[in-house]
Order: sequence, then structure tokens, then C-alpha cells
Amino acid sequence: MSVSTTQYRGRFAPSPTGPLHMGSLIAALASYLDARSNNGSWLLRIDDIDPPREAPGATDSILASLAQHGLYWDNDIIFQSHNTHRYAAALQHLRGLADGTAVFACVCSRAAMGPGGVCCGTCREQPPAGDRPHALRIAVPASQLIRCEDALQGPQCWELGHIAADFVLRRKDGLWAYQLAAAVDDTENGITHVVRGSDLLDSTPRQLFLQALLGKTAPQYCHLPVIVNSNGQKLSKQNHAAPLDNTNAVRNLRVALQFLGQLPPPASLTAVDALLHFATQAWQLARVPAQLARPAAEVGWPG
Ligand code: GLU
Repeated sequence: MSVSTTQYRGRFAPSPTGPLHMGSLIAALASYLDARSNNGSWLLRIDDIDPPREAPGATDSILASLAQHGLYWDNDIIFQSHNTHRYAAALQHLRGLADGTAVFACVCSRAAMGPGGVCCGTCREQPPAGDRPHALRIAVPASQLIRCEDALQGPQCWELGHIAADFVLRRKDGLWAYQLAAAVDDTENGITHVVRGSDLLDSTPRQLFLQALLGKTAPQYCHLPVIVNSNGQKLSKQNHAAPLDNTNAVRNLRVALQFLGQLPPPASLTAVDALLHFATQAWQLARVPAQLARPAAEVGWPG
């Protein structure tokens, strides 16, 4: 993405649920190259606010993998677990709004919620007793439309009131929801460009909605194709994607660049730094296939 006036600030935001795999390398590399080719900074945020999903040692393993692949970040690492005061302040702000949106306590189980995650309706009228475990949700007006121009996927328009009517800000177990945390941190950290996988495209309207209510400027979003196996499933930690072999960083980077439609670096480049230097100079977002998914087999990667 090209930038004129604002200093570009990008980020990579892995959750420490396991080691990096090819899907995460693709997102890390594209966000890194887009930032560096725009003389921007590239931050690393560890999304560690969901301890039940975290794997011991995952953060260290992610940092080691990024370093082995030459993907060095700027500034101190941002840990979401250190930012919970920000989420509480944002919640406070949202609670104070009186423009048709409302934060409410909800005791509904997932099974009791209607399609699109709608609360049964009584929680709003009869707030649950304070000691009953409850989620905090935000009611989205039925007619709420959210639009944005995705740098790769083009114009987007979501009927947020239908697809995520009463979405969660703080979970029943007391943990902060990813949507609120990501919306807050991206703006608080001055992120201007978010480059990530298309699996997060449908999170974007929730984040844009919250950022608008919080009076913040949203970053520009760019959603990359995700790498899928022969069954069309995203390579992910949940689908047991193979961890990156850090001893093969150059090959991994070449595969990721091919997946991203970039010019192949000359065979003479056999060091990570030289490869990344070439890739930064040659980076063209317009060459990335504007698809939501791309099979691993197309780039000769086991899927
Ligand atoms: N932590 C999220 C994940 O690993 C990504 C967050 C983001 O890029 O917004 O899926």
C-alpha cells in the first residue's frame, strides 16, 4: 500500500497458541514488506489475552522463528496482557455512549443465541444479578452498515446489525474479547496499516464499528489470501499445520513470496538478509492475488 502523508506503521499480531506455520509466515512477511517498502515501522504485538488457548513456550518460539527469518520488529514488543487498562477505559467510554448502541450484561449461552449471535432479548431489560457470570456485549443497531475499501479485496460493505448483532466485548470468563482488544490496540499504537489473512476479514467491521464509537481513526486494512490444504481448510494451528522449519528460512521465504505473487529472488541470493532486501525493493502489493484463499499445492507446499 502506498502512503503519502502519514508515517506508515504496520504490525504483526500473532496469538501465542503455538509455533508459526507457513500461514503465519505469509502474514508476517507481507505486513513486514509492505511496511519496509514504505519506509515504515513494523511492530510486533503478542495477542496474549486468552490464556486457556495459549501454549507454553509459544511466544519464545514465535520470536525465534521471526528472527531466524530475518523479520526484526521495531520498538518494544507489545503484549496485550499489559494493556488491559486500555480495554477497561474503552469499555467505560462505550458504556457512556447514548447513540443507539449500548453495552449490556448477557447470560445467554452460545446455544441460546439466535443466528448472528443475537441475545435472547431479556438480558437487556432484566440485567442479571451481579454475581451471575455474564458476558458484556454491545448491541449493534439493526440497520448498521459498515463500509471500507480493503487494499487488496476492494470495496466491502457489511450489514453488521445482521451478522454480529450483539457481539462480545468481555467474555463470561472475564477475558477481553479479541475484537475490542485489537480495535483498541491498533489505534492506541498508531497503526496506520493492518495487513493480515482474509480469515480476519469478517472481524474488520466489528473493529471499525468500535473504532468509530471510540472516536479513533481506523487503520487501512488489507486482507491477504489464506493458504489452504487440499480440503480447502486454512493451514492453522487448529488444523495441525506443520511448524516452520527454522533451519530452512530461505526456502520458507521463497515459498511465501511465491504465494504472494512476488518476483522470485535470483537463485544467487542464498542469505536471509539479501533475500529480504531484494523482496523489499521488489514488493508490489498489486501482484498479490486478490483472492480469499489459495491452495498450498500451487506453491508446492504440503497442505
Ligand atoms: N492474533 C490474531 C491471530 O493470530 C490476529 C490479530 C490481527 O492480525 O488482527 O489470529
